[in-house]
Amino acid sequence: MAKTVIIGAGFSGHFAALVLQDALKKKGDHEITLVNLHPKFTYIPSLVWVGIGQIPVEKTQFELQPVCDKLGINLVLGKLTEVHPDDNHVIVEVNDKPTQLDYDYLIIATGPKLDFEATPGLGPEKGFTHSICTPPHATDTAQQYLALVDRLEKGERAKIVVGTGHGMCTCQGAAFEYISLLHNNLKDRGLRDRAEMLWLSNEPRPGDFGIDGFEMKMGPVTFTSEDMATALFEDFDIKVEVGSHIHKIEERTIYTENKAGEYKEFEFDYAMLIPRFTGQPFKYLDKNGNDIKDKMCNPAGFVKVDANYGKSYPELTAQDWPKTYQSPVYENVFACGIAFAPPGCISEPCTTPTGTQLIPAIPRTGYTSELTGGAAALNISEMIEGRAPCHTASLAETPGMCVASLKNSWLSGSAATIGLQPIVRNKAAFPEYGRAVDHSAMEVGLAGAWMKKALHYAFLYKLQAKPFWKVIP
Ligand SMILES: Cc1cc2nc3c(=O)[nH]c(=O)nc-3n(C[C@H](O)[C@H](O)[C@H](O)COP(=O)(O)OP(=O)(O)OC[C@H]3O[C@@H](n4cnc5c(N)ncnc54)[C@H](O)[C@@H]3O)c2cc1C
Repeated sequence: MAKTVIIGAGFSGHFAALVLQDALKKKGDHEITLVNLHPKFTYIPSLVWVGIGQIPVEKTQFELQPVCDKLGINLVLGKLTEVHPDDNHVIVEVNDKPTQLDYDYLIIATGPKLDFEATPGLGPEKGFTHSICTPPHATDTAQQYLALVDRLEKGERAKIVVGTGHGMCTCQGAAFEYISLLHNNLKDRGLRDRAEMLWLSNEPRPGDFGIDGFEMKMGPVTFTSEDMATALFEDFDIKVEVGSHIHKIEERTIYTENKAGEYKEFEFDYAMLIPRFTGQPFKYLDKNGNDIKDKMCNPAGFVKVDANYGKSYPELTAQDWPKTYQSPVYENVFACGIAFAPPGCISEPCTTPTGTQLIPAIPRTGYTSELTGGAAALNISEMIEGRAPCHTASLAETPGMCVASLKNSWLSGSAATIGLQPIVRNKAAFPEYGRAVDHSAMEVGLAGAWMKKALHYAFLYKLQAKPFWKVIP
C-alpha cells in the first residue's frame, strides 16, 4: 500500500487528490491524505466579485469533508510546518499539536504566501490598502468599498488606485478585473464622475499580465493585448502608470519608482494592490535536522522541480520549463500550482538605474494549477506501479485561458476572454512570436460574462467530484 500526502487543497492540490484517487481506485489499497489550513475549498477567481460586494463569499466555497468522505480521501485540517524528506514524513500542526504524517509520495501544493511585508504600508492588516486575495480580505474589502460608495453618494470625491504592490508581483489579471468591475459598478451607481482612477502596475506595458502580453492575428492585422488593455483603460477613463515598483505606502500616499528611475507619489483614498507572492514559510529538514531549504527551494521559497534553473532571461528556452513537477532532489516529492519554482519569468525583467528590480512574475492561473496538479498526481500513480513519471504539463506546451470579468451581469455584463497557445513563448515550435498567434483569442463582450459565470459553476461542480466531473475540462 502506498501513502500519498498532498499539502494544500486549492486548485492544484485538491485537483491532484481527485485525479490520484481516480487513477488508483482500481489498483489496490492505497491511501491519500489531503492536508489543508481551512475546511472549505475557495474558488479564488470569484473573489473579485466578493470584493465589490456583488456576491457573498459563501457562494465561492464548498466543504471539503463531504467530498473527501465520498472519495475515501483522508482530510487533515492543519498547518504544515516541517518537511522531512530523508525520513518521508511531514509535521502538521493539528489543533496546535504537532502531528507526524508518514508518506511514500508527497505533493506540495500550498499556493503563495501573500508577502505584504515586502512593501511597508501594504495590505489590510498592517497597512493602508485592501486585498481580494483571500476570503476574509475580499469580504473586508467589500465593506470598505461600500463605505466609499456611501461617501461618494454624500458628494465626496475619491482617488482610487488598483494594481500591484511590488515590483516582483504577479496576478495583474485579478487587479485588472477588479479595477474594471469598480469602474462599471460606480458607473451603474451614477458615481463614476466623483472618482479618479489609476492603474498602477509593475508590468512593462499595459496588457502584459506577466506573460509578456500576447498577440492575435486576424487576416493581415495583428492585435496585441496592449491594444486591448489601452483601449479599455481609455474607454473607462482610467489613468495608467506601469513599470512601477512601490517602495512604501503611507495613510494617503503611495511612493513609487519607475523603470526610468523616477520617484513619484500618488495620493489615494481607496486602494487595492496585490502583494508579492513567495513560497509558504515551512521548514525543510534533513535526517540530522539540518535546514535544507536552499537545496529544495529557490530564494523566494518556491519548490524546485524538473526545470533548468539558473539561466538568465535571454538564455531561457521552452525546454527549460518543468514538465513532470518532480523534485530533482527527492524523487518522491512533487510540487504544483503556485508552489513550484518557475525557472524564470516570461515578461522581460528590468532593473532601474538605482538597482530596483521590476520582475513581473509568471501568473499560475487556476487552469495551469490544475494541469500541473494533475500531472504530479498521474506521475505518482505511475511510480506506485513501478514506472517512471511520464505525464507532462509544460507551460511552454499547454494553452492559457483566462476570462477577465469587467462587469458581472447576465444582461449587461462584459468580460475579456483570452486564449493563447502556449503560455510560455516557445520559439522552437513557433519561430515568429513563440505562440500560435493564428489561434489566439481576444474578445470583449457579454458572451465572456456568461462564460465567466459558467466557469464559476463548472469549477465548483467539478471539484466536488459530482457525476461526470471528469468530462469538464
Ligand atoms: C483575486 C484573485 C483572482 C484570481 N482570478 C483568477 C481567474 O480569474 N482565473 C484563473 O485561472 N486564476 C485566477 N487566479 C489565480 C488562481 O486563484 C490561482 O492560480 C490558484 O488559486 C492557485 O492554486 P494553488 O492550488 O497553487 O494555490 P491556492 O489556491 O492558494 O491553494 C493553496 C492551498 O494550500 C493551503 N495551505 C497553504 N499553506 C499551508 C500549510 N502550511 N499547511 C496546510 N495547508 C496550507 C491553503 O489553505 C490553500 O487551500 C486568481 C487569484 C487571485 C488571488
